[in-house]
Amino acid sequence: MPGFLELGLSPRVLRAIEAMGYEEPTPVQVQAIPRLLAGKDVVVQAQTGTGKTAAFGIPIAERVNTAMPRVQALVLSPTRELALQVASNLTEIGQFVGMTVLPIYGGQGYEHQIRSLRRGVHVVVATPGRLLDLLQRRSLTLDAVHHLVLDEADEMLDMGFLPDVERIIRQTPAERQTTLFSATMPDAIFQLAARHLKEPERIILSRPRAITVPTVDQSCYLVPREYKAEALVRLLDTKSPQLALVFCATKRMAAALAVELQGRGYRAEALHGDMTQSQRESVMESSRAGRVEVLVATDVAARGLDISEVSHVVNFDIPQDPDSYIHRIGRTARAGRSGEAITLVGPREFSLLRVIENTTGVRIPRKELPTVAEAEEAERAGLAAHLSQLVTQDAGASFKPLVERLAQQHNPIDLAAAALSMTVGPGRERQEIPKVSPQETAPPSPGYGGRRGSGRSFGPRRGGRR
Ligand code: AMP
Repeated sequence: MPGFLELGLSPRVLRAIEAMGYEEPTPVQVQAIPRLLAGKDVVVQAQTGTGKTAAFGIPIAERVNTAMPRVQALVLSPTRELALQVASNLTEIGQFVGMTVLPIYGGQGYEHQIRSLRRGVHVVVATPGRLLDLLQRRSLTLDAVHHLVLDEADEMLDMGFLPDVERIIRQTPAERQTTLFSATMPDAIFQLAARHLKEPERIILSRPRAITVPTVDQSCYLVPREYKAEALVRLLDTKSPQLALVFCATKRMAAALAVELQGRGYRAEALHGDMTQSQRESVMESSRAGRVEVLVATDVAARGLDISEVSHVVNFDIPQDPDSYIHRIGRTARAGRSGEAITLVGPREFSLLRVIENTTGVRIPRKELPTVAEAEEAERAGLAAHLSQLVTQDAGASFKPLVERLAQQHNPIDLAAAALSMTVGPGRERQEIPKVSPQETAPPSPGYGGRRGSGRSFGPRRGGRR
């Protein structure tokens, strides 16, 4: 697969990609970016989570003329939440180009949006209703728009926005370039594309197909994004992996998570594409020798990794396509050993989980995270086992004269407890993890094959423990 360097991008955009920590383009980016840079209209069947925003955002950042303070790219979005998320992603992508991006959505006063428009923005990400209001008030015009993106078109259809979308499209120049993204392709979306796109090229991402799933014990946990590190720590404590390989989406994330785990007292190391070959080798050597318990890696860095001791694979970020899921979980249970694959699923990643399940044909069991008490209990049990082992080996022989002296002044239990607190510290601080309620998870969305309402219900479990 080509890397970002082979996509013919400018240094300023490559710098932003580097700053965002993306290591290599996702499949939708590999397919869409060259076509969009070549000026083609494109219809992409892909879901949120596949990297579609950067797939259209990168070409926009390449084409916007920042010397001209006019709206040159317009992204239509079904919801305020998506508009905000897309606008923030586009701002990051265009940060070194000087590209300004404004989200426009209903439910907020007009003044701020109008003031920002007056100052001149290059890209607008808007929900259709509010944009039409502003067009009617003549707060902006779309005369200079050369890139139009219809994002999550099937959602806009479901929400009854298509007439508004058509009205907006008619106010943009005919010679614009248009991209349409949709998870499914109902007739109305086909017709919309036929009316407004010029000989569009069609990109369809990984249709469900037969895949061999390695025989690994799989499970997943629904966790709010900001509590994933806490969830990981609880799982590490209760499962005591020999070596856990934890996957993150970006190298920035991998490096940050490794540091956070080290801070919490785990022997963790990061493995990412920015490391030199000798740094990599030294981390791998430590892992093989059992000096590392958690290896935090990106997909790229883990490629070619040959460590048979991996007892647990953890998808800290859910992989963006079923193939990488299969690759990742295949890193454990090697050389006849048993292995476990754990996926942490944030509310916004729920639809990707379904895509993986639909493609592999395997349902990944949802599990409840260990409670704080269980994690503490497991941590203590591990400590007790370790201590017993040391006693059996008479590991503290040289300290015995000191202990005998101290035992004349102190109770032996107090002594041993104080000695433990010296080496272990006060114990790990643990946070409560709020449960992801069913309303917070993404609504059931179909797989790439468009199996809307396939009847399988994989919703999160109600009730239960933390
Ligand atoms: P999207 O499908 O656009 O909502 O993107 C889903 C997530 O993937 C976002 O958090 C993006 O920042 C992230 N992302 C997009 N492209 C890449 C990439 N090439 N490598 C790593 N993460 C990416």
